[in-house]
Amino acid sequence: MASFDLRNQTVVTLEDVDAAARAGASELLVRNGAIITPSARESISARRLSVNESGARPASQAASEWDRIFNSPEAEVIKAEIVDVGRKLWMRQYVDGNGGNISYRLTPEVVLCTPTLVSKADLKPADLCLVDLTGKQLAGGRPRTSEILMHLEIYKSVPEAKAVVHCHPPHATAYAITGRVPPTCVIPEYEVFIGKVALSPYETPGTQKFAETVLPFVKQHNTVLLANHGIVCWADTLTHAEWYAEVLDTYCWTLMLASQLGAPLSFIPCEKASDLLAIKEKLGLPDARLEMKECQLCDLPEPGSIAIPAEKAPDAADIEAIVQAVTDAVMASLEGKK
Ligand SMILES: [Zn+2]
Repeated sequence: MASFDLRNQTVVTLEDVDAAARAGASELLVRNGAIITPSARESISARRLSVNESGARPASQAASEWDRIFNSPEAEVIKAEIVDVGRKLWMRQYVDGNGGNISYRLTPEVVLCTPTLVSKADLKPADLCLVDLTGKQLAGGRPRTSEILMHLEIYKSVPEAKAVVHCHPPHATAYAITGRVPPTCVIPEYEVFIGKVALSPYETPGTQKFAETVLPFVKQHNTVLLANHGIVCWADTLTHAEWYAEVLDTYCWTLMLASQLGAPLSFIPCEKASDLLAIKEKLGLPDARLEMKECQLCDLPEPGSIAIPAEKAPDAADIEAIVQAVTDAVMASLEGKK
């Protein structure tokens, strides 16, 4: 009987079962205690494969390369920081139920991340997962979060991004569900650490399509509001990515409180706003406004409002409408000259 050896893996996925089937195997050799994902199990029974779970790993594979990286002293330091960040997010009520996820780019090829279905209050270092840049799980005892796909898109498009935090903080999410973004030039810390925030369009969480919604924004923004969902922040360290979540949510909350005072917001003057951007540039933080002139730095909301409509990338229908309007105007002007 042809066997396919998966004993160096802690998690067996549908992809592995497909690979075994392509190799013509009728039996899967699986390590004791390995997790077989539900879709992998379905495929195993549909293909009538047998599973041999007796196996301890062969001596030659006693510790795979991935296990070695996953259990390295460097990884243990990062795991402890992920656990700390998870607890902070939970204590601030930014991650409800099993919501939210955290990751860190450990090497150019692999990322440590949180597992699915674990509250960030209960997270332990042993719960974490190691994945490659396609999302394939390489090590760790629990299945990875499905939202890792969004984290990976950020790592692939922003070389400076080492850590990503996704969560659902209530005040920032309130903006994300109304299609609005907070104005700029109100509080210095917000200008320096975040500044202009983007709003990405809604997609079903956990899908590749959802993962790609942030791509137009992540090079010029370290923080993005996710429509009808929450926020995502990237930074050079896990702790900094968590700070950005705090800075954004507190800013949104403060604006909401200010709106109840019945007086209009006052803004940081443009010439002072450019001082803040200079600090930001020194810190190496991204901002779409770094090339702008002083007078363009501040987004001011309508009087009495604490939000401005989010910028939206024009879609195909918009572009068609613009082309039609321009064509009509040119035709009308030519007609007029006849
Ligand atoms: Zn989420």
